[in-house]
Amino acid sequence: KINIFWFRRDLRLEDNVGLYHALKSGLKVMPVFIFDTEILDQLQDRSDKRVDYIQQALVSLHRDLATLKSGLTIYHGKPLDVFKRLTEEFEIDTVFCNRDYEPQAIKRDQQVKDFLHKKDIGFSDFKDQVIFEKNEILKSDQSPYTVFTPYSKKWKEALQFIETFTSDFTNLVHLNNVPDIPSLEDIGFKKTEIVFTKPSLDIKIIKDYQQYRDFPALDHTTHLGVALRFGTVSVRKCVKFALEHSETWLNELIWREFFMQILFHFPYVVTRCFKKKYENISWRNNEEEFKAWCEGKTGYPIVDAGMHELNTTGFMHNRVRMITASFLTKHLLIDWRWGEAYFAQKLLDYDLSANNGNWQWAAGSGCDAAPYFRIFNPEEQTKKFDKDLKYIKKWLPDDDQPEPLVEHKFARERALETYKKALV
Ligand code: FAD
Repeated sequence: KINIFWFRRDLRLEDNVGLYHALKSGLKVMPVFIFDTEILDQLQDRSDKRVDYIQQALVSLHRDLATLKSGLTIYHGKPLDVFKRLTEEFEIDTVFCNRDYEPQAIKRDQQVKDFLHKKDIGFSDFKDQVIFEKNEILKSDQSPYTVFTPYSKKWKEALQFIETFTSDFTNLVHLNNVPDIPSLEDIGFKKTEIVFTKPSLDIKIIKDYQQYRDFPALDHTTHLGVALRFGTVSVRKCVKFALEHSETWLNELIWREFFMQILFHFPYVVTRCFKKKYENISWRNNEEEFKAWCEGKTGYPIVDAGMHELNTTGFMHNRVRMITASFLTKHLLIDWRWGEAYFAQKLLDYDLSANNGNWQWAAGSGCDAAPYFRIFNPEEQTKKFDKDLKYIKKWLPDDDQPEPLVEHKFARERALETYKKALV
């Protein structure tokens, strides 16, 4: 009999909780990854940078496993079908993995678990991608937090020793002829310009994070979003580093968990406003204007620069994400769900809980959101955060800019009126 370790959002050997437990169980462990067609078929772009990132991360993982005389076995299909095949090919004792909290993933795991259960095969999942999950951080009346500051306070109080899970790899199955990792073409995708490198924690960035993080031209944030998304870095390692070097950066990691627990406790937010009254807003939803926003042609340089950065690199600086999101929802009165979907398609670090939480924050409809009457003024934001126009010039090198889609003062009044009407 063997055990299987199913890699998902945890593409690393180091400090991997589920893998650690699988290897400790005493049986041989076969590492497996599934290119899940149910997820891949939803992607519109065949040159998706995330798929490229995952494929390269798998090649790297496969190489690491080869030095341990093992390798990664890859499947392509629906997870349930893959497990049907696996149970025919191997005598399996238990399938190990790390927990995922997105509604679709919870459903997938339940199906696999039920199927394995019928075959008398175990399914053991572990907490790995967060410090605190599910009901671990609750208010004293046992209900979930919906406001960040008290949540983060409780999170910090609850934090004690952070364990590092160092595996003994001797129980990995030894494989002689492991096939190569499928290429992107093999799974119906194309190469992009993304280059995967093993993530590292840069002390220079984190030490000065608080001082410089808000200035997009300085690009002084860690860019670890994608690594946290796919688990090529361990969150425990990040939190330890944050505790030593920057409380501000620690708070960002707590925001990440805050939105994850919001999604877990309030899964309706995927399609609906956290605050129900906000469903009454009469969005204008002008398609031409939406297209101009997507293409970075609104005539507001800071907004357009941000959209160019996103469209070119798959990344956008946090300050500019807030400005572009506010512009779409308030200035153009376009439903936050449209913007959320566009970011979901483009962001390399796309994460359902963080993207949804931040979009709803920007629109005012979310938990702990900015009050609706606080409307970002793109020019004021530029003066504060890009006063030498360095960021703008980097992403909009052409002097020839379109006329503004809408005048700021007018748009501000229109937004206030529309929101007010919906919220009475
Ligand atoms: P750093 O500034 O170095 O922060 C470290 C990590 O903390 C990030 O990688 C991320 O995991 C976490 N983090 C930081 N800020 C937030 C936040 N506000 N909410 C949740 N987690 C946070 N972040 C995503 O990871 N995925 C998304 O899809 C996403 N969509 C966003 C959409 C909008 C409209 C806005 C305003 C923000 C969004 N964010 C999202 C949050 C934030 O902008 C990014 O996490 C950050 O810019 C990523 O850059 P970094 O890795 O250099 O982060």
